[in-house]
Amino acid sequence: APLTSAEVDGLSWDKMDGLLPAIVQGRASGRVLMLGYMNREALQATLESGFATFFSRSKQRLWRKGETSGNVLDVQAVTSDCDGDSLLVIADPHGPTCHEGSLSCFGDAWLRGPGWLAEVSAIVAERAASGEDSSYTRHLLEGGAERIAQKIGEEAVELALAAVTRDAAGCAEEAADLLYHLVVLLQVRGMEWEQVIEVLRRRHSAAPPSE
Ligand code: AMP
Ligand code: ZN
Ligand code: ZN
Ligand code: ZN
Repeated sequence: APLTSAEVDGLSWDKMDGLLPAIVQGRASGRVLMLGYMNREALQATLESGFATFFSRSKQRLWRKGETSGNVLDVQAVTSDCDGDSLLVIADPHGPTCHEGSLSCFGDAWLRGPGWLAEVSAIVAERAASGEDSSYTRHLLEGGAERIAQKIGEEAVELALAAVTRDAAGCAEEAADLLYHLVVLLQVRGMEWEQVIEVLRRRHSAAPPSE
């Protein structure tokens, strides 16, 4: 279960000299975004405000991530590990988390799982918001639900054909086409991945335990 304010005092503060490492993970992508340190005050501020707040060892004060850049971490849950000496902060990042401009302080090169789709969605949402209209994505978005519905139908048939006629690399190409167009469909319909994943979570009888 996510940590509540009432549980803060029960963590292993003494053993850690009052400062717990806090790993921040993107909720949709699963990407590890950064590592910071929290004292009791920083953790309480995080739980109360809903924005990740650390104790900055260099500044020697509370530091709300994004306080100057605006790139805040919108916290969905905080949990502690098995022995209460480290924290996991599940957050939706607004913009890049690293002050050097990458999504993650550990570099953006490693993610290979389906969490990548969440980042494709973020790029598509950006295209939708920007005035720039030369991109294929913009073109699709402007075609609305009918255009994307047609593309989804085409791409699904292409993948179905590939499944029985092409090698794995060919199937991968068609699967990627279908997933990209699915991302655009979600954008056109104003949907989030979370809504889709929730359906899968609910349906699966052996779903992982909820928080
Ligand atoms: P921000 O909190 O994003 O407004 O950034 C303010 C300052 O905090 C930056 O100039 C950096 O010195 C530092 N900073 C920002 N993000 C990070 C991060 N992910 N890890 C470490 N230091 C950071
Ligand atoms: Zn531990
Ligand atoms: Zn960084
Ligand atoms: Zn295709």
